Formats: sequence, structure tokens, C-alpha cells
Amino acid sequence: MIYKGSCHCEAVAFEVEADKKVAAISCNCSICTKAGILHLIVPRSKFNLIKGKNNLSTYTFDTGEAKHLFCKTCGIKSFYIPRTNPDGISVNPSCLDPQPKEMTIEKFDGQNWEINAHTLEHLSK
Ligand SMILES: [Zn+2]
Repeated sequence: MIYKGSCHCEAVAFEVEADKKVAAISCNCSICTKAGILHLIVPRSKFNLIKGKNNLSTYTFDTGEAKHLFCKTCGIKSFYIPRTNPDGISVNPSCLDPQPKEMTIEKFDGQNWEINAHTLEHLSK
């Protein structure tokens, strides 16, 4: 199904296609822990940015591969390009409107990124 999503101030808005039961990922790496966000990783083709391209700012660190995008106005990271899936998009399920009624949460050990990254590769294919 198609979900609508946005940042808090709604300057950034998007649509994403995902299963009715959303399969979210919880990661324990340094940035995910501090941001407290979950991940819904989809292929690029299932994501459509409706508005706000020019209202996004990018934060990078370490290898710089992940593009942590956030709204310049409200600071909310509603989606970004993850290092595990640079050909895909990771949507923050907390930014979907309305919230998915059903969601599973699987843990990803991002503290040991190198040995675990391949387990998420299929999500953007
Ligand atoms: Zn915003």
C-alpha cells in the first residue's frame, strides 16, 4: 500500500510503497541510537518525494556513504539514504501519516556494521 509521510513542519512530504504490515528495523549504531529512529528500507522506485527537496540538509560522518537528510526548518529526519542500501531509501516509520496499524521491529546490530550489512542488502532490490 501507499503511505504518505512528512517531517514535522510538513515542508518535506513523500509517498512510500510498503506492505500493510510494516517491517521496521531498529539499529544500535551511534547515530540511530541518539536519533531514536526506526527504519523502513525500500527500493528507490518505491519512494516518491512530493515536496521539500530544497528544504533538506545533509549530514554525513565516518565513510560519508550514508546521507542523513533532515528538514532545515524542523530538523526531523523523515527519510535518508542508508549506507547498507545506497540504492534505496530508509524511511522513518514514525513520520508516516497516519501511523501504520501493524509493524514488526527487527533488530540490526549496526555496532558491528561490517559483518551485518549484507543482511539488509535485499531490502532495496
Ligand atoms: Zn520540517
